[in-house]
Amino acid sequence: MIILETQNLEYSYPDGTKAIEDVSIQIPRGEKVSFVGKNGSGKSTLFLLLNGTLKPKKGKVLLSGGEINYSSAGLLDLRKRVGIVFQNSDDQIIAPTVYQDIAFGPANLNYKKEEIDKIVNKMLDYFGLQSLKDKPPHHLSGGQKKRVAIAGVLAMDPDVIILDEPLSNLDPVGADEILDILNELNHLGKTIVISTHDVDLAYKWSDRVFLLSNSRLIDEGSPKDVFSKEEQVRNSSLKNPVILDFYHELEKRWLATGGKRPKDIPEL
Ligand code: ADP
Repeated sequence: MIILETQNLEYSYPDGTKAIEDVSIQIPRGEKVSFVGKNGSGKSTLFLLLNGTLKPKKGKVLLSGGEINYSSAGLLDLRKRVGIVFQNSDDQIIAPTVYQDIAFGPANLNYKKEEIDKIVNKMLDYFGLQSLKDKPPHHLSGGQKKRVAIAGVLAMDPDVIILDEPLSNLDPVGADEILDILNELNHLGKTIVISTHDVDLAYKWSDRVFLLSNSRLIDEGSPKDVFSKEEQVRNSSLKNPVILDFYHELEKRWLATGGKRPKDIPEL
């Protein structure tokens, strides 16, 4: 079942920059999806279109088959169902304490105070943030801020969580923590959509990859399918995933020795 879809989407910024051109995508419910493309290829703009922050000049965005309603009630409902985590946590975290920041979304949905307290405490426990709840978010580390930002989105219990470059600026331990959280949320049934220019991450993590270049969708499919077309990866100014380069190097060496690929090493 398709949870999010776009049909022939077009968007230009007020200064005339074309950011999304004729993009049609379908995101199946429950998948882990990566949008891959170099900086400026249109990933962030597409995400803002997917959660209604931007309105397309042409084309449609559909959630569970229904076209987005851009009235304020329609947008509130959309943002409850499609949460977005910005690349820079400081753009997202606005309240004076961690607790208040996580409470912001549920409060906007007019939940009762006790209900909000229950949700926030659940998030603080889940994300290991209880001991930080009264701290100003700008005193936290990058990884902690990212967890607060994701907790704030998850507090509204969306079906889809979209994260723009979720691992950028995190150290390897912080990045692994966030990946573990995303995988666990996916196991709990959430559809997880990320953007990244990290081809290795997209290759190892995703069920499905969409490749964007110059505001357009170039390809989509399993990571193996999309990244095995090396010319289109190069033409999109991306590198091959390291694992593929490694594999091709090995293959070259076997062939150079006149040997065949050893039986115990499968075809990619
Ligand atoms: P990505 O997320 O892949 O880096 P973006 O969606 O941010 O790509 O950018 C797509 C294009 O839109 C780029 O040419 C970028 O310069 C342009 N762009 C992004 N934001 C704005 C803006 N607020 N005003 C004008 N142009 C913008």
